[in-house]
Amino acid sequence: MNIHEYQAKELLSKNGINVPAGKVAFSSDQAIRIANDLQSEKFVVKAQIHAGGRGKGGGVKIASTVEDVGRLTSDMIGMKLITHQTGPEGKLVGKVLIEEASQIEKEFYLGMVIDRSEEKIVVMASPEGGVEIEEVAKNSPDKIIKEYVDISVGLLPFQCRKIAYFLGLKGKTANKAVNLILKLYEVFIKSDCSLVEINPMILTKSDYLIPLDAKLNIDDNALYRHKDLSEYHDPDEEDSNELEASKWGISYVKLDGNIGCLVNGAGLAMSTMDIIKYHGGEPANFLDVGGGATPQQVTQAFKMILSDKNVKAVFVNIFGGIMKCDTVATGIISAAKEVGIEVPLVVRLEGTNVEIGREMLSKSGLNIITGSDMKECAAKVVESAQNS
Ligand code: GDP
Ligand code: MG
Repeated sequence: MNIHEYQAKELLSKNGINVPAGKVAFSSDQAIRIANDLQSEKFVVKAQIHAGGRGKGGGVKIASTVEDVGRLTSDMIGMKLITHQTGPEGKLVGKVLIEEASQIEKEFYLGMVIDRSEEKIVVMASPEGGVEIEEVAKNSPDKIIKEYVDISVGLLPFQCRKIAYFLGLKGKTANKAVNLILKLYEVFIKSDCSLVEINPMILTKSDYLIPLDAKLNIDDNALYRHKDLSEYHDPDEEDSNELEASKWGISYVKLDGNIGCLVNGAGLAMSTMDIIKYHGGEPANFLDVGGGATPQQVTQAFKMILSDKNVKAVFVNIFGGIMKCDTVATGIISAAKEVGIEVPLVVRLEGTNVEIGREMLSKSGLNIITGSDMKECAAKVVESAQNS
């Protein structure tokens, strides 16, 4: 679960990390009240969306007066903010963070993620802060330090000192960095994070070392033991289909391609995406209706796939074990009746009740492309998507 910057800063602050004073606002009146209370010389108005790169897209603005805060807030709320992480459609801004402006002496990058192949947490830092870390990694990888943390031992002070010196910090400032990194690691562990990214962490002109931006991701599987953090969930930030799918008990993840996939079983869903890619296509989604799906769930899954405007062809790939092929056929036919299928539909059915399922589909009058096996069907769906 991703959380907003203002929520992440609240969490860091609760854990003893100094962050710039600020509050979230949902209207310009509220923003003005917050700015008045802050009594700062300058303010920052920051769009709160689950995407980075807001600065470049016009989602981070400095205000010199309280009136400016009001004006910038009303400009920002309701705007579609487009950044390199939102995709071309952008994200609707519903709230902004009003913060006292900081005077920046230097910007750094500080991040922590789980490195699955090393089975460790990796702390990464760079003196090139405030810019996309992916660019730094590509163009000047020597400007990034990585310290691996054995979680049974924990992050050790000497590792933090190594990072601080790499960032060019000395004396008391280096000590501040060590404390900040250790505290961040504590938050990472305590809150079951899978990512904490502070970009930039800044050194202010008055020598404070603070997180100016904060991105946090909390492992969904651990949310059951963080009732307080679950409140940070913002349904406005989720793909509406993904939300709908979770209500129906369907695993759906939207992807960028144009071939909609309806599959039973996560393993088969993965190999379906692989085989589509093998044939030069791009899946539009991962979708697992599960083993014991009902015709209603299949219908719902189909409707979600078809509601994605990028979808140019659909591949139904079912291996009926617990799931019966006639259940899938019923779902397809009823979805076709309800919403109409205007893109090519390739169906590969095998397993329990396959004959009944095939017969139902062939009698349905739907224009269905079939093949002798999964490979042939994948090739056909890729071709259909290219031609449609
Ligand atoms: P992002 O673009 O979504 O990563 O948003 P950030 O919170 O990282 O802000 C982008 C950039 O805006 C930062 O790298 C800073 O250069 C600038 N910025 C943000 N807050 C302040 C501030 O309080 N004072 C100054 N001078 N610049 C700021
Ligand atoms: Mg940032």
